[in-house]
Amino acid sequence: PLIKDVMAPVATITLGFSVHEAAKKIIQDKFNHLPVVDENSRLVGIVTSWDVSKALALSKSDKLAPIMTRNVITVAPDDPADLAVRLLEKHNISALPVIDKDKKVLGIVTGEGLSKLISRGV
Ligand code: SAM
Repeated sequence: PLIKDVMAPVATITLGFSVHEAAKKIIQDKFNHLPVVDENSRLVGIVTSWDVSKALALSKSDKLAPIMTRNVITVAPDDPADLAVRLLEKHNISALPVIDKDKKVLGIVTGEGLSKLISRGV
């Protein structure tokens, strides 16, 4: 199986969002991970419920830029699905944005999505 067989749709946000707005979106859209994109829809970072909780708990600034992770680990749609398993394990993260050659976000691969492979017996 390839990444495109196991990826799911994902909502993205821009740097114009506040931490508070990101928290709302996480709850409303039921995503734990929000890829952050620029005005050309290119990936520039990722914000997770963990980052948002931390920012709110420490009541730092309400800006997204200081709390997002800029060095995002990603995969491509035609990568093998087991690459995602290895990357999640290696970097101790729970999701990988799927991007195309232009860094446009196509979806997300999560541990949850990958566990479907096991239940399907692949
Ligand atoms: N294990 C927990 C988890 O999976 O969310 C917490 C540890 S993980 C190191 C938390 C950090 O990883 C967050 O600051 C988040 O922004 C970052 N992160 C999540 N997905 C990422 C990815 N695909 N690439 C780079 N960093 C990522």
